[in-house]
Amino acid sequence: MQPIIISKEEHGISLDQIDRHALYIIEKLRAAGHVAYLVGGSVRDLLLGHTPKDYDISTSAIPEEIKALFGRQCILIGRRFRLAHIRFGRKIIEVATFRAGDPETPEFITRDNIWGTPEEDVLRRDFTINGLFFDSFEETVIDYVGGYADAQKKQLKMIGEPYVRYRQDPVRMIRLVKFLARFNLEAEHDTRLACIECKADILKSSQARVLEELLRMLESGAAEHFFRLMTDYGLMQLLLPDVAEHLEELPGNEIYAYLQEVDRMQLESKEVIDRSVALSALIYPMLHNHLKIHYVDGGNIPHLGQIQSEAGAMIRKVFGPFFLLPRRISGKMLAILNGQYRMTPFVPKKSSKLRVPNVAEFSLALDFLSLRSRIDPELKAIFTDWEKAFSTVKIEPEKRSKPRRRRRRKA
Ligand code: ATP
Ligand code: MG
Repeated sequence: MQPIIISKEEHGISLDQIDRHALYIIEKLRAAGHVAYLVGGSVRDLLLGHTPKDYDISTSAIPEEIKALFGRQCILIGRRFRLAHIRFGRKIIEVATFRAGDPETPEFITRDNIWGTPEEDVLRRDFTINGLFFDSFEETVIDYVGGYADAQKKQLKMIGEPYVRYRQDPVRMIRLVKFLARFNLEAEHDTRLACIECKADILKSSQARVLEELLRMLESGAAEHFFRLMTDYGLMQLLLPDVAEHLEELPGNEIYAYLQEVDRMQLESKEVIDRSVALSALIYPMLHNHLKIHYVDGGNIPHLGQIQSEAGAMIRKVFGPFFLLPRRISGKMLAILNGQYRMTPFVPKKSSKLRVPNVAEFSLALDFLSLRSRIDPELKAIFTDWEKAFSTVKIEPEKRSKPRRRRRRKA
């Protein structure tokens, strides 16, 4: 099939918007006689007016040829799905050979690493806007799947038959919701309908991949929109039924208020907010409600030990149906949730001395109190007092966790 070629005048992408190392790799591959294009997320981001976070390259060169060309700068990774990673200091650019076949079909496993044409390569991809090439030499967009027109229309459309493609890899349903939320797109009719009809298949997918997508969305600045759409599509009800049920009640909507603040904090801060802090936003309103109903309303004020075990039980109940939350995350969440009742107990303490626990995790609890104080400004003064008290505490080295904040990913 002949692709549609979109000229520079039409697509408007300029070379100085593109990472120079990615351009260097493409030039070097071309000079050695290979075909090489920018592909996937970066082309989509540029067309939709966003700055790409990373750049993937597809080429006709096979991994050994890429290795020979880039030498020590290049490592080949993966066995079933061989790719080259090319390093520039801390930055890594992924270079993959054009592939044929669908990576998710059993057939592919027996025919792994079957190299293909550029057209075959894009037909395996998920959405049309993710299936575009950018030829940096000609400065054209090469479109085999109608992705350029869809990007113009702000439409998200599955490549191929949506039912088949979701069944092959149900994580594509989460990816649908992620791109809708992140770029404010409309789902094409069949792409949307098939997702709703296939939704139960999400439970057949890898929990680790789904969790990774959820955690990445909590860092994206579009978490509120994402979780609203996850609920509209009925995926929340399957993955996190307790949260979904809570969201259906009126006070449950406060979870969205928390997520909105998580989004604001992510957009304002140069560093990514710790995943455990963002994830606690899904649980804290439910935990608080539970403690009120089962303890406080009956005149029984829970002590920190009881709160700790209730928080643990709630984390297991909420995530347990589908997810296997890594212990390092659930441990931090426990410290965050428990820390809230140390700083803002049901019955305020009379003594003015603040007792700060000698653990690094307490700073995460403080981050979460800061999040709460953005919703309830009355908490601001309490936050400031505890922050000051925490800054004077010396944390013993063995209680110090690894640096808790990562810098934003940059290409
Ligand atoms: P992000 O900006 O979140 O990284 P992305 O589109 O770049 O989004 P990646 O997971 O980095 O997502 O994948 C890179 C490319 O690989 C995608 O643009 C798409 O073309 C293809 N791809 C990724 N996941 C799938 C999938 N499950 N099925 C088919 N193609 C996929
Ligand atoms: Mg990507």
